[in-house]
Amino acid sequence: MSGAEPVVAVLALLACVTVWLLVGRGRTEVPLHRGDVHQRLEGLVAAATRALDEPDRRRAPTLAHKGVLEGGRRVRVAFFGPAGRVRAAVSVRRDAPPLRVRLEGVLDRLRKRLVPEDIVTGDEAFDARFFLQSARPDEGAEALTNDVRRAIKKAFTRFDVDRLELGPGELAVEADADEKCAPDRWQELVELLDETATLIDIRPVHVRALGGERGLVRDEDGRTRCVYCRDGLSGDEDDLVACERCRTALHGACWEEHGGCPVFGCGGRTPERPRLRG
Ligand SMILES: [Zn+2]
Ligand SMILES: [Zn+2]
Repeated sequence: MSGAEPVVAVLALLACVTVWLLVGRGRTEVPLHRGDVHQRLEGLVAAATRALDEPDRRRAPTLAHKGVLEGGRRVRVAFFGPAGRVRAAVSVRRDAPPLRVRLEGVLDRLRKRLVPEDIVTGDEAFDARFFLQSARPDEGAEALTNDVRRAIKKAFTRFDVDRLELGPGELAVEADADEKCAPDRWQELVELLDETATLIDIRPVHVRALGGERGLVRDEDGRTRCVYCRDGLSGDEDDLVACERCRTALHGACWEEHGGCPVFGCGGRTPERPRLRG
């Protein structure tokens, strides 16, 4: 028995080293608590800022933080030290269509003359500025509503994002981690992604109490939910109100509790209420 112990100890040590080499090396991952992202992201921002100041960029570490935003959306921000790049991603519904958006280059322009582009939204300025690819072009075009296009333009303009990818369950952007997308702006970038993902998750549903179509937020599995309390909603409930500004429907009590429209970035103050019957 005692003869086997050193062997076991060596094997255990080897296993630990292997795991460290495979998954842990040079990477810090701090799990975030619900709604705690803002505070915890500061750690990543500080570490990335130090790494970018490093004279030898090849030695800069790769760092990643993940957590859950206040509304329940998962977020993950990764900093690739040697490349000086940042990738920020938030969760969206799993049935979101695949979509790749990047700034249109000269080659893309030539290519478009030969082969029609995957997606044409009809928004000329948008179509001219971006190169759009999707394996499900009809659904991809449908996801690019006015509001979603506006949010995408904002990401490219305000943060110098150079690619945006929507895939099953994830919305992600990538950028050089300098100037417009320096670490001290990642917080704001995550907020914009959260806002964009909410817009992508909204689905038009007939809301009986309001007598017409309004938006309901979908969760990752595509189920429609109250944007505030996350309870399932079908549109058939009696106690629904809708925001006059973004037309998202939710429980009247949830609207009151929040004191306005809880859809990120909307700020609507006036709810549309069911007409009293009788
Ligand atoms: Zn609710
Ligand atoms: Zn609203």
